[in-house]
Amino acid sequence: MAIERLFIANRGEIAVRVVKAAKALGIHTIQAHSEADTEMLAVKLADEAICVGPAPSKDSYLNIPAILEAAKATKADAIHPGYGFLSESPAFARAVEEAGLIFVGPSADTIERMGDKVAARQAAEAAGVPVVPGSDGRIDVSEAVSVAEKIGYPVMIKAAAGGGGRGIRIAKDEAELKTLAPQAKAEAEAAFGDGGLYIERAILSPRHIEVQILGDGETAVHCYERECSLQRRRQKVWEEAGAMCLDDETRESLCASAVALAKAVNYRGAGTLEYLYDEAANEFYFIEMNTRIQVEHPVTEMVTGVDLVAEMIKVCGGAKLSMTQDEIKKTGHAIEVRLCAEDPFLNFMPWPGVVSTLKDPTGDGVRFDHFLSEGYQIPPFYDSLLGKVIVHADTREAAIDKLVEALESMEIGGTKTTAPLHLALAADPEVRKGAFHTQWLEPWLEAGNLSATKGDAA
Ligand code: ADP
Ligand code: ADP
Ligand code: MG
Repeated sequence: MAIERLFIANRGEIAVRVVKAAKALGIHTIQAHSEADTEMLAVKLADEAICVGPAPSKDSYLNIPAILEAAKATKADAIHPGYGFLSESPAFARAVEEAGLIFVGPSADTIERMGDKVAARQAAEAAGVPVVPGSDGRIDVSEAVSVAEKIGYPVMIKAAAGGGGRGIRIAKDEAELKTLAPQAKAEAEAAFGDGGLYIERAILSPRHIEVQILGDGETAVHCYERECSLQRRRQKVWEEAGAMCLDDETRESLCASAVALAKAVNYRGAGTLEYLYDEAANEFYFIEMNTRIQVEHPVTEMVTGVDLVAEMIKVCGGAKLSMTQDEIKKTGHAIEVRLCAEDPFLNFMPWPGVVSTLKDPTGDGVRFDHFLSEGYQIPPFYDSLLGKVIVHADTREAAIDKLVEALESMEIGGTKTTAPLHLALAADPEVRKGAFHTQWLEPWLEAGNLSATKGDAA
């Protein structure tokens, strides 16, 4: 029943990560790609590759029939969905199951339940996990006003099917709610094909803390927490393991709540429970579960030594978890920064170019997950993430120092990247102290803190 031929239905750096993990397990790898991705690194590294359609994602990486046909044609016995694309689509997971293949993730039923943010809130409450006060279920634009009056303004208007920071609006009063709710609904319909909305109290200046879990369908463990409070447009920019703001007792109860919820849904695979943490009140609230591997999983791997991608492949192939909770220890502190092909000095304008030179970051405890090579033309059709620089050191201070050295030692020629943003953040006294929250970075950018560093960098 163990997986022998794994089909990778994704692209970019996560496809490279999955191909390498599968090969290390002795699994034959089959890489899917669009017509625009014939030159990508995962295609070169995999044992086989197959085209699943034209460049636009909807015709290739989001095309369920084309992916299933390609998986069958290449005699795959399992499909790894990566993150984004179809990774949280219950329809896809169900189609994979019905075709008799293994979906490297939880069951379609679990994705349906936990991938819908409203249903996930209900599951969390049932498992005794605190959620942000909000509507009981999906609501109409007309109901929103009376619910908002009860929970109190400002409120977050959120899409039940949301992800990637889209479909979220903040309303500070009734008038804003009436204007913004229909916009959020339209955006959710366009982005997710589901306009279902719910509302939550907007937590003022929260920190974003999440717990990594692993389950084999019978039992579940946690691999501690990450903090991802440095965000722009509700998307993570810089991520850490662990969260320095938590005391041990709060960390314990947070991680225990995540395991309780994972066990309650018989979770299989790698998953993340996301929370907002109100530092002043020392309270945490569940916001959503991501039923897939996450972009920032490497920081957890660095501090725990657990190979999350290998473990998810093994448990989805039918194995039991290879470790118990008390075997999972963490050491030191890890930081990941996302390198995107964007110009941070020009309002993060996308900048896909040809990689003219590539010099990897150097240093002990430095990891670079990416899909670049010299001469590679970054396709303009997909999201701008080029890779991630991850550093691990004994202390947070030392990890920040190491991050600076790593970023200064590397070179990606021919395109703009967000590296200057990370260097500026690493030099900021508030970041050094860890004195930030999810609403910290945008005002910092608006105040010109990044532009002010441009002279020094040149
Ligand atoms: P993570 O949740 O792993 O920290 P992101 O939120 O940035 O990272 O999501 C990873 C990728 O998946 C991004 O490219 C994002 O745009 C995409 N993504 C996340 N959720 C969805 C979704 N529901 N539908 C489509 N794309 C999504
Ligand atoms: P997505 O599915 O797009 O990742 P999340 O529900 O995880 O959406 O929220 C993304 C980010 O939006 C959070 O990390 C946080 O910064 C902000 N956010 C979400 N809900 C709230 C809330 N109730 N109060 C304050 N900020 C919130
Ligand atoms: Mg989220």
